[in-house]
Amino acid sequence: MRLKGKTALVTAAGQGIGHASVMALAAEGAQVWATDVNEKLLERYAGVANVTAVKLDVLDKAAIGALFAKLPALDVLFNCAGVVHNGTIEQASDDDLAFAFSLNVRAQMWTIQAVLPGMLKAGRGSIINMASVCSSMKGLPNRFVYGTTKAAVLGLTKSVAADYVTKGIRCNAVCPGTVDTPSLGDRINANADPEEARKAFIARQPMGRLAQAEEIAPVVVFLASDESIFATGQFFTVDGGITI
Ligand code: NAD
Repeated sequence: MRLKGKTALVTAAGQGIGHASVMALAAEGAQVWATDVNEKLLERYAGVANVTAVKLDVLDKAAIGALFAKLPALDVLFNCAGVVHNGTIEQASDDDLAFAFSLNVRAQMWTIQAVLPGMLKAGRGSIINMASVCSSMKGLPNRFVYGTTKAAVLGLTKSVAADYVTKGIRCNAVCPGTVDTPSLGDRINANADPEEARKAFIARQPMGRLAQAEEIAPVVVFLASDESIFATGQFFTVDGGITI
């Protein structure tokens, strides 16, 4: 039980990497608040030990404030919520960019602002932000809005890490490669030829396959635990070789 006695909150926990992370954190003994905007998806947590499911839309600042005010001080915050837009800079609209900044970046600012008072009081905390290898680490085709906003997540992570390094609060980012999650399935199925689209996603993975969400969750557990106590402001890449 590597996380016994720790409290954690995960955003976008209804499916994909957020869900796999909640299950892994809870299995290690953390008390986990699994949150998502989609209440239907949270039904999967009924009866799961150590997990409390709560609706949270991370685009709603007031809702974030109200929820965090009700919770005990958190040891761990995993900002997993994010959206992927397809397309080049020529195809990007102002609305796409604004929405992606709201969900991928500003929501992380809001949840971190909400969690910090409790962490500062306790003198400890681990903040984990979902980024991607598709960011300032790696340019991928047709990911202009996504790569731009995920690069901002890396800057946000460094900035928070720098400001709170002496206060016991760590802030790191997770940078996955291509993970076989429901939204990736939607992106694949939106293509005229889904089979070819899946092959193209696999082809950009040097390991020759997509990751499972359960293969990203262990990094989240590591960052949540005191095993990573000396690590802050870092980007933890789990990408099947994309950035070799
Ligand atoms: P997903 O995209 O399949 O699911 C996203 C979840 O976010 C859903 O449960 C949805 O209800 C929830 N959500 C959407 N808007 C929300 C909001 N406003 N408030 C709260 N929850 C909201 O899951 P995924 O593919 O595992 O992606 C999760 C994160 O991982 C994202 O930030 C994504 O950018 C990142 N990521 C994914 C991959 C990948 O290949 N799947 C790779 C790198 C990074």
